[in-house]
Amino acid sequence: MPKVHNFGAGPAKLPEEVYDIIRQELTDFDGTGISLLETSHRSSTYLKFNKEVQNVVRRLMKVPDNYKILFMAGGGQGQFAAVPMNLISRTGTADYLVTGAWSAKAAKEAKKYGKVNLVLPETNRYIVVPHESEWKLDPNASYVHICFNETIHGVEFDFVPDTKGVPLVADMSSNFFSRVVDVSKFGVIYGGAQKNIGTSGVALVIVREDLLNHALPICPSILDWTVTAKNDSILNTPPMFAIYIMGKVLEWIERQGGLEEMAKNALIKSSKIYKLIDESEGFYHAPVHRICRSKMNIPFRIGSHNGDEALEKEFLKGAEALGLIQLKGHRDVGGIRASTYNAVTMEEVDILVDYMKNFQMKHQA
Ligand code: PLP
Repeated sequence: MPKVHNFGAGPAKLPEEVYDIIRQELTDFDGTGISLLETSHRSSTYLKFNKEVQNVVRRLMKVPDNYKILFMAGGGQGQFAAVPMNLISRTGTADYLVTGAWSAKAAKEAKKYGKVNLVLPETNRYIVVPHESEWKLDPNASYVHICFNETIHGVEFDFVPDTKGVPLVADMSSNFFSRVVDVSKFGVIYGGAQKNIGTSGVALVIVREDLLNHALPICPSILDWTVTAKNDSILNTPPMFAIYIMGKVLEWIERQGGLEEMAKNALIKSSKIYKLIDESEGFYHAPVHRICRSKMNIPFRIGSHNGDEALEKEFLKGAEALGLIQLKGHRDVGGIRASTYNAVTMEEVDILVDYMKNFQMKHQA
């Protein structure tokens, strides 16, 4: 079997070095002689680790002191409910910018808890973040929600919107820690960990303190940011192992040189693939407008704009034979999707690009 190169969209590849650490520590957590898997969440070793993970988040993202860092169960979609339940009571309404399947889903969930204004409406084709001048934001909204990177459609914001004082809430599930962001421009940043920063089971939430204490009375304690903050993310038994892996991945990012380094690599890796697509004379087709092309998830079609399904099937089969796996596009969009998260190496991208070149040579008339 060839060496495997995992281009999956999530749960996604973890850095190999992190596996080495997990293997070493699996049965002896912090010199306790037992595994973290059988350690009390109230033990001093876990309490210490809980703080260490918060600290590495704070260092990497330069999180200002007036923001809380929370670890919550329920993944990204748990936060689709938590966001309105914690914020919408401020004015009863919220603005949602729909730029892909995930922000559409977040808006749908929010409608259960208050009035939702779709600033950018749902469509059946997401290929762009329309220019800010086209948005009609409600100055009375409790918050403005965006998905910073649409994992399925490959649409990424290349800027932080100016929401004129209304708190900006961003789902960063699939581009968390892949670029430098100015946290002070956001009210809340959240995301599931299973793409760039670990494994499923935990959502990381970064919330500005003045946005606490607004939860709806029906909000379950487990999704309540204020209750979670008061309990330092140990209200109940947290997803400890997922938090542990997140900590190890974040420490790895720090050792690599932090977010500047991640951003530099993400640009080089994604540009190699986009360049090949753009120079393929229509053999490969990337539907997303250049300015909002994701550096994390690269969807493309083969053969024509709508994709030649037989050719795409052959592409996937040939890729798998070379160990290039999980390249199938999401069922909503079809085609191919290459995810180039932090842990995917430059060499792996080169192998994919070579394969794409050879595949084109073989099939282009
Ligand atoms: N938001 C984005 C951008 C995602 O890509 C995903 C999952 O792929 C989610 C939210 C949902 O995350 P979860 O599966 O952790 O609920």
